[in-house]
Amino acid sequence: MEKLITIVVPAYNEANNLLPLYDQIGHVLSTSIYKWEIIFVNDGSSDHTLQILKEIATKYSNCKYISFSKNFGKDNALKAGIDHAKGDAVITMDADLQHPPSLILELIKKWEEGNEIVYAFRKGANPHSNFFSRMYSSIFWKILKFLSGMKLEEGISDYRILDKIVVDEIKKMDEYELFLRGMIKWVGFNQLGIEYVPDERFTGESTYSRKALLNLAIHGITSFSVKPLYMAIYLGFTFSFMSVIYIPYVLYSLYMHSDVPGWSSTIMTIVFLGGIQLIMIGVIGIYVGKLFMQTKNRPNYIIQAQNLMTQK
Ligand code: UDP
Ligand code: MG
Repeated sequence: MEKLITIVVPAYNEANNLLPLYDQIGHVLSTSIYKWEIIFVNDGSSDHTLQILKEIATKYSNCKYISFSKNFGKDNALKAGIDHAKGDAVITMDADLQHPPSLILELIKKWEEGNEIVYAFRKGANPHSNFFSRMYSSIFWKILKFLSGMKLEEGISDYRILDKIVVDEIKKMDEYELFLRGMIKWVGFNQLGIEYVPDERFTGESTYSRKALLNLAIHGITSFSVKPLYMAIYLGFTFSFMSVIYIPYVLYSLYMHSDVPGWSSTIMTIVFLGGIQLIMIGVIGIYVGKLFMQTKNRPNYIIQAQNLMTQK
């Protein structure tokens, strides 16, 4: 029986990239032995992305779309596509043609060889970014790796193929603030990384700012481990131990009447410990906030329009 490949593409203000992407994927897959469908997820775009999607969908029956009621973010868009995918395997890729469609056949080949998850990662630094953003991204990945306890390669992308068995597991997860790259690492199975060189964005601008990257790091860390909470305890122990040594010294000074005005050391201690305490309260606050949001049990996304029902 012919196998079906579902391609999931999140799109936020990508109007001019969608048809070229569809054409290129069609070009790659038309000569293959696979049936394929594509699910575009319009993540609350403010341009005419939805209109273009409707046009492509009327022309090609294997083009499906889901349109959100507002911007829910890339990971939620990917989740929506995965939730509605029927394929024997699901490929996720960006809409801006930075993920070269020619790699699709390679992903499929490695999947057929028995890897339930095959993902593309960028080898070395991103050739399209400058020195500072490279340094920033390198530090970002190192911290993320250390504090989250996950073996995430630097430069791991959202370009990947997932076997149906993995897709079914992802469908079950409805955590608040998804961190898909981490979740996919976490599920296990045979995972294989292949190198790729990202292309230049076809049209438009990247929407991932540095602040978004920092937020991603915080979410990545706090949704995957409680390591930072342990850090608070270790710091607490360290300082208690230090004070155990310090107190006898203070008492001794008192006894010897050498307790000269130690204003600067006092202030320094207060400022330093105050800072540590604020950071740790913040860390705990993030976890409490996550619990709060999770208990509300809100959906990850809200669909306003789609054409999944009207077609096979
Ligand atoms: N994207 C999305 N929702 C967002 C931001 C981005 O669905 O809120 C999509 C975007 O349309 C693209 C992909 O996620 O298909 C990657 O976005 P972008 O190119 O801006 O990120 P970068 O390539 O710089 O990581
Ligand atoms: Mg991009």
